This record gives sequence, structure tokens and C-alpha cells, in this order.
Amino acid sequence: MMRSRTILVAAAAAALVLAGCGDDDNTASETTTTSADTSAFPEGSTMARLADAGTITVGTKFDQPLFGLVGPDGEPVGFDVEVAKIIAGELGIDPDDITWKETVSQNREAFIQDDQVDIVVATYTINDKRKEVIDFAGPYYIAGQSLMVRADEESIASSDDLAGKTVCSAEGSTPAKNIEDNFPDTTLQVFAQYTDCLDPLRNGQVDAVTTDNVILAGYVSENPDDFKIVGEQFTEEPYGIGLKLGDEEFRTFINDTLEASFEDGRWATAWEETAGSVLPTPDPPTVNRY
Ligand code: GLU
Repeated sequence: MMRSRTILVAAAAAALVLAGCGDDDNTASETTTTSADTSAFPEGSTMARLADAGTITVGTKFDQPLFGLVGPDGEPVGFDVEVAKIIAGELGIDPDDITWKETVSQNREAFIQDDQVDIVVATYTINDKRKEVIDFAGPYYIAGQSLMVRADEESIASSDDLAGKTVCSAEGSTPAKNIEDNFPDTTLQVFAQYTDCLDPLRNGQVDAVTTDNVILAGYVSENPDDFKIVGEQFTEEPYGIGLKLGDEEFRTFINDTLEASFEDGRWATAWEETAGSVLPTPDPPTVNRY
């Protein structure tokens, strides 16, 4: 009797150590944001490198309310920011240890290629052209191109009304490319970022701003007297997480993390605490492990 009880206690202690739960109370709070056993990452993998470093550099937008907007304290907030925190958490990296780097539409691929960032989470549409130079995990959300006009605008009700109009967008973005390729009678004005389009729209230099519906929804929510969204979404923009081309292991890890977060509610919570203040909670998309 005594003997089997001793064995049971020993087995339980061993299980605690194996599960990494043997920490005393002092360290428990440090591990609450972490569900990863970071020692389990394959040697030489990006996951092991980042977990060992205890930090990750994330490229995100700084001027897009709801997805990535730098707040008064200098820290970005939004759904993309929360998605990045979920990934960092799986690497054992605390949100405070993330280095945020501003990316605009045009420089995202280059920042990944030049190792200026480890990942990009920045309303970043997965497409074949970009996949020639970087890889994408995801999607973790599907947006769609839309139009924002002045609140008193009456001559633009949808993308059918863009002939003869001047439309503003961000350089290097998929909405800008779509206007360039498929709207030959529309003048395209590009700037580095979407916020550069807001004053030109207000003062009549441009007739509309075009980008993803969720980005425009952020600007309308901050300027409800000035702007409105018109018409339906006219493209599909699946948002991916950009990473180094060919880093299969890291891409699989991020895809696994996204799927787990879809399942256990972290993704939905991230949405509700950010974009969900203005937009309905979507169903999680299907990850595409190409
Ligand atoms: N999702 C589009 C893109 O990746 C538009 C939004 C953006 O420019 O970030 O180009």
C-alpha cells in the first residue's frame, strides 16, 4: 500500500515537471500569457531563435483605427496588434517585449526581405505577386475593397460611379492596383498611407478614398460627420501574416497558432476588444496551407 502510494506521488511530481508546471508561485504570473513549451522548438528554427531572444519585431500599421493605430502612449492598438500578440505569446514572448515597427503598404515585402521585421501583421492581402518574394500564413480575416466619400456626396453610390472621378489610395496597395488596372476612366492619386488621403477628400481634391472596408470603417468611426462608406465590397482581401520566403516551419507554426486561436476563443476576443467596437464579429476563415 505505502509503496504504490509513493510511486503515485513520484509520478505526479514527474508529470508536473514534464508539463512545465513545477514553477513556484513567484514565476507563475510571468507565464500566464504563454501557452508554449518554448524548449520544444526545433533547433535552428525561427521559433527557437525568437523564443531564445525573448523578443520579436512586428511590422504593423500605425494610422489605421481598429487594426493598427498608435495610441497616446506610443503603443499600437487594434486587431492586427492583438493577432501579433497571440503569435508572440505562443513563442513565450510577453506583449511588452514586442518591438513594433511601422510599415506602410509599399514597404512590407522589403521589410521582410531585409530582416527589418520578423513578421508583418498589417491588413496585408495574400496574393500571388507578393508570394513570389515572401510567404504568408493565414488568412486570419477576409476584408474587401470599398469606397469612402464625403458625407454629403451624392454622385458616387458604388464602384460603378467612378468614371471621371479622382480616387485616393495608398501606394503599393491592392486597392490602388485594382483602380489602375480595371478603372481606366478613373484618376488614381496615391500617397504613402491612407491618412494622407483624408484631408484631400475633405477639401475636394479627391472624390473618394478606396481601400479595404474595415480600414475605411475605422476612419468613418473617427469622422462620422465628414465621411461615409458607399456601395458593396468589390474585391476579396484575405489578410495574411507576412514572413520570410521559404520559412516553411515558421509558416506552419503561425498557421497552427491561428487555428488554435480560432478554436479557443482568443481570436474572437481579440476582435471584440478592437474592431468589434464598430464591426460585427465574423466567423474565422479557413487557413490556407499552400
Ligand atoms: N489589404 C490591402 C493590401 O494589402 C489594402 C490595405 C493595405 O494597404 O494595407 O494592399
